[in-house]
Amino acid sequence: MSQEFFHEGELVAVLTAQPLDRFLDYKATEGGCHLGAFVEVPLGPRKVLGVVWGPGKGDFDYKKVRSVIRVLDVAPMRDEMRQFLTRAADYTLTPLHAMLRLATRAPGLGDAPSMRKVYRLGDQEPDRVTTARTKVLEVLRDYGGLSFTLKELADMAGVGSSVVKGLVKLGAVAEVDAPRDMPYPMLDPDYGGKELSPDQAAGADALRADLRSDKYGTTLLKGVTGSGKTEVYLEAVAECLRMGRQALVLLPEIALSGEFINRVEARFGMKPAEWHSGVTMTERRRCWRMVGQGDAQLIVGARSALFLPFQNLGLIVVDEEHDTSYKQEDGVLYNARDMTVLRAAINGAQVVLASATPSLESWANADQGKYKRLELKSRYGPAIMPKMSAIDMRVEDLPGGKWVSPALRQAIAQRIEKGEQSLVFLNRRGYAPITLCRACGHQIGCDHCDARMVEHRFLKRLMCHQCGETKPMPNVCPHCEAEDKLSAVGPGVERMGEEITDLFPDARVAVLSSDLYGSARAMKAHIEEIAQGGTDIIIGTQLVAKGHNFPKLTLVGVIDADLGLQGSDLRAAERTFQLMRQVAGRAGRAETPGEALLQTYQPEHGVIRAILAGDEEAFWSAEAHERKDAGVPPYGRMAGIILSGTTAEEVFDLGNAMARQDGPLRRIGAQVFGPAPAPIARVRGRHRVRLLVKAEKSAPLQQALAQWAGQFKLRGELRMAIDIDPQSFY
Ligand code: ADP
Ligand code: ZN
Repeated sequence: MSQEFFHEGELVAVLTAQPLDRFLDYKATEGGCHLGAFVEVPLGPRKVLGVVWGPGKGDFDYKKVRSVIRVLDVAPMRDEMRQFLTRAADYTLTPLHAMLRLATRAPGLGDAPSMRKVYRLGDQEPDRVTTARTKVLEVLRDYGGLSFTLKELADMAGVGSSVVKGLVKLGAVAEVDAPRDMPYPMLDPDYGGKELSPDQAAGADALRADLRSDKYGTTLLKGVTGSGKTEVYLEAVAECLRMGRQALVLLPEIALSGEFINRVEARFGMKPAEWHSGVTMTERRRCWRMVGQGDAQLIVGARSALFLPFQNLGLIVVDEEHDTSYKQEDGVLYNARDMTVLRAAINGAQVVLASATPSLESWANADQGKYKRLELKSRYGPAIMPKMSAIDMRVEDLPGGKWVSPALRQAIAQRIEKGEQSLVFLNRRGYAPITLCRACGHQIGCDHCDARMVEHRFLKRLMCHQCGETKPMPNVCPHCEAEDKLSAVGPGVERMGEEITDLFPDARVAVLSSDLYGSARAMKAHIEEIAQGGTDIIIGTQLVAKGHNFPKLTLVGVIDADLGLQGSDLRAAERTFQLMRQVAGRAGRAETPGEALLQTYQPEHGVIRAILAGDEEAFWSAEAHERKDAGVPPYGRMAGIILSGTTAEEVFDLGNAMARQDGPLRRIGAQVFGPAPAPIARVRGRHRVRLLVKAEKSAPLQQALAQWAGQFKLRGELRMAIDIDPQSFY
């Protein structure tokens, strides 16, 4: 048993979120410190946040050791959270202080809770009854003794805030001070459950039984979009709440829409706690604190919600588990899907990985029996999967600079006639990917990256999709200074908008691309309007592939189904397969069956054929077979090393030295490839070099990597990032 409490003056080891590679000793304050307590400690001239991690080492003059300043008024970090952070740090080769930073990303954790005004039913009757006043009082009566903020109450009653203020004067509504960090309202697991289909009911039963085991387990919940996966996992959430444990639902950031929150409210009677980049700082703090003291039962969030200080976590759902946004690509390089499994294993919690198109990793784990597998076979209700076919672009008659084949054009025209929607899909933002000088052949590139600048006609600028740098569109070629010779090459969604408008001048056309909106709210509002039928033809990037419901959509036309197949990326085939199936799944969600048409120059390509045949198992087995042969994930282990610096030579020298001194890796049978210039060899002015390490599945890779990398001192500007299980190879 480790020591759980430290009396005043006893030495404690404190982990801070500061970039130090060790624990610091402090004396416990007056009143003592619990193990795991969040504390404020002096560090040089500053006061910083830390966590009591264990007994102090005592290898420093006791008299000189400083004292903890104070213990913060938040729930101490639980033992399982310390274990989770430690193991996640070991796995991702990240310093522990960086993990603590991830776990404390809420401002003002130590502040005394500030107060705010809330409103609840008063004890007087209003002298004069108006419709607006009645609405306010009805809301308050409906919710019994609950209190609301002014805005919440006015919004729910659909009246102006002056009406509420008027009622306060009359004593019909009471205005009281309450701590800002209020507990979240209780959710009712039996509030709004739906009648489930036999398939769904069987799935929900299985998940409920697993939860009641009180043990760790992971289930892959697979089913086409619209088959009711969400309905099924919400039943698991309900069971978790009944057991008095907390539940977490992770969604890709982009899918964190009001739509989902409304669904949760319809199911449980109240809104859940939210944790994502759109949440205000005050609300983040409230969420963090309430999760820690068990006053938030259900959290809906983006990947970093996994690092919240749950008190009694029973269930984690990872929706769209294959989504690449679960991998954090800067700072701490972690995959939230994998970390979810780790956290659940430590907590004795259940994991549900939901997807229509699982990652090969999860598919393989299910195949090997490490995960259970549940499948919802058909779409809920009358809708069926769309009919998919290829348009062979080799035989279509198309002028240069145009991308909509006659066959696709005809299919769209038919939909317009019937008053149905079409989606034209192209996974490329902007107007044109290349701006070429017709006089000298120069292609305009970014000044800081080895990447072409992409024209964004809507913004009237060129933009680098690597670093975000923009510049105005020049009139003369920056290379040969010829005038008016610059021309757009290749299509982006903005350009497709032009072509479609030319082809269908009377149709209502909308281009959906994340960069066309000033705010997430504006984007949501527009998507909502489109879904209601305000548009005939939607042109979109992968933004539309994710989760939005377009009931009137019956045709999906994919402009370039080959686009994803060109990459040298290990997962190119998998990604294309997933994306194409998701996009196709947008068609025919309501009563009308859908059709998906894929424009391709290689209709005989294995991936395209598997997509068309809808034969998923065949695709996964073939893909699994290839990866097994190549000894790559999920059948082997990989780590990417990215070196960067301001001079190319220095970076390469380090890369070469690392390749030569590979002893620690050779001892575990691992191989090093490289150094090679990264596919994008310069980003933000820094030169980038990659090495790739491959090892067998069972090899102790992290340990060897740590020893290997530890041999090199990074001088000056040089940086090294180690990416375990890399997802992208740019
Ligand atoms: P998925 O998560 O697999 O895409 P959803 O759970 O979102 O599927 O279900 C698709 C649609 O069908 C939703 O509007 C959902 O409310 C509805 N639906 C699914 N199952 C049922 C059910 N048993 N009863 C009523 N509506 C359902
Ligand atoms: Zn750039």
